[in-house]
Amino acid sequence: MLPDTHIHTGFSGDCTVPARIQIERCLALGMTELCITDHHDYHTGMAEELFLLDFPSYLSQLQNLRQEYEGRIRINIGVELGLQVRIREYLENLASSLTVDYIIGSSHFIDQTDPYYPGFFEGRSEQDAYRRYFEVSLERIRTLDCFDSFGHLDYVVRYGPTTNHNYSYDAYREYIDPILRTLIEKGRALECNTAGFKYGLGHPNPSEDILRRYHELGGEQVTLGSDAHSPEHIGHSFARAREILLDCGFCYLTVYRQRKPVLLPL
Ligand SMILES: [Zn+2]
Ligand SMILES: [Zn+2]
Repeated sequence: MLPDTHIHTGFSGDCTVPARIQIERCLALGMTELCITDHHDYHTGMAEELFLLDFPSYLSQLQNLRQEYEGRIRINIGVELGLQVRIREYLENLASSLTVDYIIGSSHFIDQTDPYYPGFFEGRSEQDAYRRYFEVSLERIRTLDCFDSFGHLDYVVRYGPTTNHNYSYDAYREYIDPILRTLIEKGRALECNTAGFKYGLGHPNPSEDILRRYHELGGEQVTLGSDAHSPEHIGHSFARAREILLDCGFCYLTVYRQRKPVLLPL
């Protein structure tokens, strides 16, 4: 099975599964490589910061596991970093000082709340909420350099009042195209996140049309992750994702090792 490069473990504020269990699941699925990417969202504006990593402990425990599993499966160590322009300096310093293989940059908190919480959609139309999400994401991608791949580009549609029923690339292309162009100009990868299937969207995040458009605009680096918070979701819908990526014109998958892209045939 293709490597899963978006996996959460008990180090994340919203996951209780020990890293070892997630690794064992990857082995059982026949993966030869994986990347653990626990959450680090700093300065979210929430009353309690739930998504902060204790980096020294995180890195040393994962390094021990990497050693233990050497020769059986390659364990890359990553982080899913919550992007925010107002903490630019903090994020850039962190990214350049961390010894990790891979950094996913994700837009989670917008206007001090995460679309995961219904409050994000209160007082505005779904369309305005989605537009706001894309506008803020674009500003982050333009301003910040602290990441390798942009995570789940249309994450917001997982949680909208009608999810993706009134959503399409065409309806938001004026917001999405600049994001794709900026990623390509900056040499950043786009993530194909299969959690959309788990959420019942019937599509990955971002949807097929957006992956195809990224390729059409010249984007070549696509990463693949399940965003699993439990073992049964590791590698979720990867066979389908592979077909989608091939159909969009991609021949290679990108994984990051020591922050350098490595291309693997799809
Ligand atoms: Zn995320
Ligand atoms: Zn995630």
